[in-house]
Order: sequence, then C-alpha cells, then structure tokens
Amino acid sequence: MLCDLHTHTHHSFDGFPHATAHAMAKAAVDAGIGVLALTDHCEVNGQVQGLYAHFDQAASFAEATAARDAFADRLTLLRGIELGQPLEHPEEALAMREAHDYDFVILSLHNIPDVPDFYLLRTDRMSEQHYHKLYDRLLDEMIRSVSFPGVHTLAHVTYPVRYWAEAGKQFDLAPHYPRFMRLFEALCKQGVALEVNVSTLWKGYGFAMPDRELLQLYRSFGGELVTIGSDAHAPENVGNCISDGARLLRECGFDKIVAYKEGKQFFVPITE
Ligand SMILES: [Zn+2]
Ligand SMILES: [Zn+2]
Repeated sequence: MLCDLHTHTHHSFDGFPHATAHAMAKAAVDAGIGVLALTDHCEVNGQVQGLYAHFDQAASFAEATAARDAFADRLTLLRGIELGQPLEHPEEALAMREAHDYDFVILSLHNIPDVPDFYLLRTDRMSEQHYHKLYDRLLDEMIRSVSFPGVHTLAHVTYPVRYWAEAGKQFDLAPHYPRFMRLFEALCKQGVALEVNVSTLWKGYGFAMPDRELLQLYRSFGGELVTIGSDAHAPENVGNCISDGARLLRECGFDKIVAYKEGKQFFVPITE
C-alpha cells in the first residue's frame, strides 16, 4: 500500500483553488494511494506577523473531516497540518497545534528567525559560503525544534538545496554532516520521524529531500521512523513519485512508513 503523507489543499496560502479536500482524496484513490494526509500550511510566524493570507484552520479541518467520511471505504485520510517555525512563537504554535484533533503533524522550517523563507531569497546573487552559513543556522533551528511537543515528522531537511539547484548551482552537503548527525540523534531521541519529500523528484531536480546518502546516514544512526510525501498542492500531483521514494527508502534499509491517526501510531509496510 502506498502512502502520501504531505499534501496541501486550497486552504494553504499557496494551494491551488481547485485543490479541495474532496478533490485531493479522490485523486489519491485514483492514484492507488491507501493512506493520505492533508497537511495545510500553518506558518506560525506567517500567521502571527501577518505575512501570509489568513489560514482558516477550522474550515481546513472541517473540509478534511468531510472528505475523510466521504472516502472512508476507500482511503485512510489523516487530518493534519504542516506546522512551520513553531519556536518563533511557541505559545501561539501550541494553540494552533491544539486547536483541532489533528491526526498527523508535520514539523517544518522554511525560514530562519528574522530571515525570509528560503523560497524568497536571491540565491543567484549569494556566495556558496554565505549560503552555507544560512543553512547551518537552519539546521541549528531544526535541532532545537524537534523537541516541540506533538510533532510527528520533520519535513524536507534539505529544503535550501532545492533553491540552490534552482539557481543552477551544485551544493555540497558534506560540511553540514556534523549537524545532520546531531539532528538525526535528536529525531531518534524524540521519536520524531524523518520525511522523504519527493516533490523534487517529480519536479525534475533529480534528488529527493533528503537524498540517498543522508537517508543512509539516518539509518546508520538507528533511525527507523520515516514518512513520505509528494507535497502536492493540487489534485493532479497527489501520489507523484511516491513509488520512487518508496523504492529509495527500501534500498536504504527501511521497510515501513510510520503514520498517526487519532493519537495512535501505525505502520504501513513499504511495497514497490
Ligand atoms: Zn514545507
Ligand atoms: Zn508542504
């Protein structure tokens, strides 16, 4: 059975208008996905500081609940959020985390405190040395954030590499391995999973986030908990490259995906 545990609906600030929860669930069934998580962006700093369009948590959750019920006989649908930068405003983050009975909570870091989202940086004008420093700060923030209560998996740990690649430049991850080791140690200690985000595969970058070498490093640290997601923001992308990601995980020594529903952990064996 295939799982797609990272997707967005139109309730996300960057979701497509036709990405209703119902359309995403239907697309998952059509793509042969057995477990789907709807994980709309909950950018804590973005909401508190008014940087992004308002995220209507109640509407997102209600729509996910209706889709879950409509497809109950064909799909396990997890109602989730992608909680971004919780440590920038921890009290508000906790309130957002607790606002609904979310099945599945993704922890993600799209920016460092006081620095815009990597997506918005002019990487084409930056030196590699400068970018390495920013990435070090992001990894330090990830290490600190892993202990935030109630998060299940850490998304796209090599997020900045995507934007470096977009500027047409090769990024050397080797200098960051000492921090990755500390990060993977923290994940194992806290029981938080590592996500393989395959959006960079279906968008043609040629690597998953993280890549094979980092997945093997996590495995060598005793890492067992992994999740997988397409990061689709539209129904036509649900399930994209999930089987490629599953194959990659198998080759790196993982045999199951972890997921959570109604407060309970469950595992789905990785099949190709
Ligand atoms: Zn994200
Ligand atoms: Zn996302």
